[in-house]
Amino acid sequence: MSDFKDLNLSPELLKTLTKKGYKTPTEIQNLAIPIILTKRDLLGIAQTGTGKTAAFSLPIIDNIKRSDIKLFSKRARVLIMTPTRELAIQVLDHIQLYAEGLNLKSTAIYGGVGPLNQVRKLSTGVDILVATPGRLVDFLERGHVRLDQLEVFVLDEADRMLDMGFITDVTKVIDQLPEVRQSLFFSATMPEDISKLADTILTDPKRIEVAPSATPIEKIDQVVKHLHRTNKPLLLIEILKEENTQSVLVFTKTKLGADRVYKHLDDAGISCASIHSDRTQGAREKSLTNFRKGVIKVLVATDIAARGIDVERVSHVINYDVPIEAETYVHRIGRTARAGRAGYAITFCDPVEIKYLKAIEKLLGCEIKEDQTHTYFGAPPRVYQDEPKQKLTNPNKGKSNQPKRRKKKKK
Ligand code: AMP
Repeated sequence: MSDFKDLNLSPELLKTLTKKGYKTPTEIQNLAIPIILTKRDLLGIAQTGTGKTAAFSLPIIDNIKRSDIKLFSKRARVLIMTPTRELAIQVLDHIQLYAEGLNLKSTAIYGGVGPLNQVRKLSTGVDILVATPGRLVDFLERGHVRLDQLEVFVLDEADRMLDMGFITDVTKVIDQLPEVRQSLFFSATMPEDISKLADTILTDPKRIEVAPSATPIEKIDQVVKHLHRTNKPLLLIEILKEENTQSVLVFTKTKLGADRVYKHLDDAGISCASIHSDRTQGAREKSLTNFRKGVIKVLVATDIAARGIDVERVSHVINYDVPIEAETYVHRIGRTARAGRAGYAITFCDPVEIKYLKAIEKLLGCEIKEDQTHTYFGAPPRVYQDEPKQKLTNPNKGKSNQPKRRKKKKK
């Protein structure tokens, strides 16, 4: 087992890490920190939960502290791009935690909130800027930020960035980067398009790869419950009323699905909230904070909204819908069993979803244990007599209650 002291980090940072209770570096930190400290480009295949944020933030903070130069108006020395607002906020929180007492200026820019505050913070220049692609491109076009003095560029969660249709924005940003810089590129997967994108950004990079999640799958107690989809709300409520469910993340396939599940739980008196991309930024942050603090027990989320979110004490992940992409299953269940705690992953499977379940089992290389003892196993479909089909309350108060049309996902 190694020690942070062996990684050449400055005494100030070592002190902060001890104070924060970080005892030993994670695998990605052991591999990445020495490389980044030498200012070399890096290609990291790793996902959230592995300690990735500290792996790039710590050496970046150290390097920019060592060359303490004057900040210029509207310029950033380091740019970290993340696909979602939640991840941008989370990365900034970590950076501010690690850089405590070092007199570094850092800020985040993302959509969903008014730009004025963000423009003001950038006006005097920042050491570290965390940004989502849309807002960053908008600010670049309006001249609120310039990248001509950038020293380090980090592209985080590159695969998700492309999945979410941000390739044009990412390319626009890359076009404005200065030629001489350090670039760090992180992605959970490395299909051909991602690999090509990495080639356009990196120069002679060192490649590192760590296991998909800090949570070994074996540490998660996984179970699948077969039932008709109309019985899913009832089984969910039954499970949530059991005592050992303290902090539960429920995943649905669609935003409308998330709103429906929220409504069922709320009606059943279970404290919950939902996050998805149709909710305002303020509402998403509030839901997440309440979930983190334990004010609410259940957070219902879609995959995109929840991507990259790190909540330490998730006792259960419930797949209300079986994910269509097998890899998504691994991302979802990796939210539980963090930091040595026990974790449970329960998957509800309607007969039409069995094909997706089979694909997940193929990826895992094993079958997921089946529970045939639950109340709705083999039960007939529930007939909804008293619920008109679309009469659902959107939890996003202040917005229309009309169910939204799904936008076509950009490719
Ligand atoms: P990340 O993959 O960056 O989202 O980190 C996942 C979680 O692990 C975060 O809550 C970090 O605060 C925590 N963490 C990162 N590195 C360490 C470490 N070396 N020791 C303990 N916790 C860590």
